[in-house]
Amino acid sequence: MTNAFVPDPASDPASESASESASESTCGGVNAVSPPLVVADPGAYGWDARCDVAVIGFGAAGACAALEAARGGLGVIVAERFEGGGASARSGGVVYAGGGTPYQQAAGYRDTPEAMAAYLRQEVGDAVGHATLQAFCARSTGMIAWLEQLGARFAATVPPRKTSYPAQDYYLYYSGNEAVADYARHAEPAPRGHRCKGRGMSGHVLYGVLRRAVLAQAGT
Ligand SMILES: Cc1cc2nc3c(=O)[nH]c(=O)nc-3n(C[C@H](O)[C@H](O)[C@H](O)COP(=O)(O)OP(=O)(O)OC[C@H]3O[C@@H](n4cnc5c(N)ncnc54)[C@H](O)[C@@H]3O)c2cc1C
Repeated sequence: MTNAFVPDPASDPASESASESASESTCGGVNAVSPPLVVADPGAYGWDARCDVAVIGFGAAGACAALEAARGGLGVIVAERFEGGGASARSGGVVYAGGGTPYQQAAGYRDTPEAMAAYLRQEVGDAVGHATLQAFCARSTGMIAWLEQLGARFAATVPPRKTSYPAQDYYLYYSGNEAVADYARHAEPAPRGHRCKGRGMSGHVLYGVLRRAVLAQAGT
């Protein structure tokens, strides 16, 4: 990775105005729309950077894209308007994965990429193309392994009953409608919500793993 532009709140005038506006943006529990950010001194930035891949937004998707592009030998710039993290760092940290992950197997569930695809097709209709859906399911166990080699941790503990989000110490669960009869009729059900290990809503843990990997790749 040749470059990573992640704002430093201590020195970035845009970040300064961002934190000011953030502190002013809550009124009566409702988040107001923040005013546009203004760069006080455009001359302080180099606008002529070159790269092979420009990643706009340093959430989980941007971090993953940046890592894969950089590991493929491409020069990457990551541009983030705030501090990074976005919804990813505030999420539940649940990774939808199946097709026979080690955690599904350890918990005693049989799953296949075909069963996973058959379930997801019911949910996504024609919004996702055939090749994309097949690839997502076929590569799902690999995605978990990819996250693990970065440092993410998962587990095979399944909560005793259906929940919208597993309580502490439970990390594998039915995060969708897989076990509902109308769906299970067309696709063998299996729990596929792999919650990243961590206390509470563990999206901050999962995002932290990705963020650290990007910064390490960038040498910052
Ligand atoms: C409460 C909550 C819980 C959730 N739980 C889960 C869950 O457990 N599992 C799951 O799969 N999904 C969950 N989701 C959904 C999930 O969080 C999002 O789908 C996911 O984080 C999107 O990732 P992203 O990288 O695309 O976007 P983000 O993580 O939002 O990152 C986008 C980044 O882009 C930056 N940005 C935006 N515009 C610009 C710009 N013009 N220039 C520069 N930077 C810009 C933002 O500041 C931000 O940092 C949850 C969502 C919420 C709200």
